[in-house]
Order: sequence, then structure tokens, then C-alpha cells
Amino acid sequence: MKLVRFRQGHVIRPGIFAENRYYDVSAFGEDYSEEFFASDGINRLRSFIDAEREALPEMMGTPALDVPFCRPSKIVCIGLNYADHARETGATPPTEPVIFLKSTTSLTGPNDPIIIPRGAQKTDWEVELAVVIARRASYVSEDEALSFVAGYCLHNDISEREFQLERGGTWDKGKGCDSFAPMGPFLVTPDEIADIDKLRLWLRVNGVKRQNGNTADMIFKIPHLISYVSSFMTLLPGDVISTGTPAGVGLGMREPVYLRAGDVVELGIDGLGSARQEVVARGHNA
Ligand code: ZN
Repeated sequence: MKLVRFRQGHVIRPGIFAENRYYDVSAFGEDYSEEFFASDGINRLRSFIDAEREALPEMMGTPALDVPFCRPSKIVCIGLNYADHARETGATPPTEPVIFLKSTTSLTGPNDPIIIPRGAQKTDWEVELAVVIARRASYVSEDEALSFVAGYCLHNDISEREFQLERGGTWDKGKGCDSFAPMGPFLVTPDEIADIDKLRLWLRVNGVKRQNGNTADMIFKIPHLISYVSSFMTLLPGDVISTGTPAGVGLGMREPVYLRAGDVVELGIDGLGSARQEVVARGHNA
């Protein structure tokens, strides 16, 4: 199943994407919230759709998409989880996962603009596979970790490198700005993915391929990441773990290239769909 959320003005409605069509499932009566995931919502939604399939209203045209799940309690990110990306940033591949947090206010729809923060010069891209947690997870073992996954999602872990690396302290200053977590188009349930460890991830800026990786090259695999993070903090239903980016970010180039207003970023992961984001500068009144 591919879960989506439609945005019409300030109204958000749950939906699904099936057989190349968008369907409104407002009649199910629930949004994709912490409570939804905690109460076996994915399976209840599946039963609802099986029963109501013929009656579901189809969304015509290209609906505006929001984040495919409600705002979670946290977005946990894994840094330097691909050896080629660690090398391009001058870092040694880590011996334990690097963890940092992204603010939940950085979430934005998959095709919404990326907003360059005021005064920023080094806004950068990172295509990533995000894991969405299905149920409360604390001290879970690697063996049971995948049973805590609600689904997977395309994520662009936008970063402002000066804020992240040159302004003192931890990375979080450069990771949580508004619009820095475009998420979606879909939340894809695990049954739709044949092998999560063999997915191609790619990203283009203005049509130029910048990232072209494969989840096979993750240093720490998803079961380990879930188990590891859950030994430091409790993960709630709907929480996100973003699993790191492969090589090809702007920071990694010999002459670093960063995003400018007017640029267009396109990205995708096999089976998780694609997204397109235009870059705009934040005005002083916004
Ligand atoms: Zn990242």
C-alpha cells in the first residue's frame, strides 16, 4: 500500500496511490497519526480499502501532496552512513552510527519549495531513505527490528552547511530550518519492497545527476539502526529514522556547489517514487 496525504488549502486529507491513481480515503475517518499507527492502522486501512475499493473517490489531475503522515514526535537522522559520502566530506567512516535530530517543523510536502534561510549561502541536498516506525520501540533487538517498521519514504535531508559546520556546537542548527525535510510522495508499506537493501537512490539538480547510490552501500543496515536508536531513546509510532545519504552532495565537490534560488531538485528511490522541489530564497517578511 502507498499512503499519501492531499492538501487543499489548509485542509489535509488521507489517501492512497494505487494502480497509478490517487484515491481519497477520508471515509476511513482517520489521519495517519501516532494513534493511527499505534492502533494497527495500516492493517485496518487495508481492510477498509479492500471492502470499499469500488466506492473510493478518485482524485483527478495532479493533487497537491503533503507529508504522507502526520507530524511525528521526532525525526532521527543517521550521519555518514555511506562510506563514499563520509570520504567526500573528509570524515572517517564511523564505527558506530552518528545520530542527530531534525526539527519536526522542517517537514514539508514532497513537491513543495526548498526555502533558503535568511543569510544562508551553503544550502545542500541529501537523498535518503526514511523509515517510519509502526509501534513504540525501546531496546528492540536487531532480529525483531523490522517488525517495528510501518513503511518507507523518500526524504531530502536538506542541510545548511555553514550553520551545520561553521557556527559551533552540534549539526542541528543546519538541519532543522523550515522546509528542510521534504518527505514523500508516498509512505510505502514493507510488503511492496522486495529487498530494502537493494534500492537505487538518485538526485538531480537542474537536470544534472548529482547522487546515484544504492541502499546496499549503507554502513549500518536498517535493523541495526532501529535497534541502536531505540537503545538511546524511545521511538513512538510515526517517528522517522532517516538512514543517511550516499556520495554526491554539494559539500563533497572539489569546488562545492550549493543551491540557489531558481534551482530545481529532483530525487527518487526505486519503489518509493520521486519528488521535485524548486528552490526559493526566504524573504525578510516571511
Ligand atoms: Zn542526511
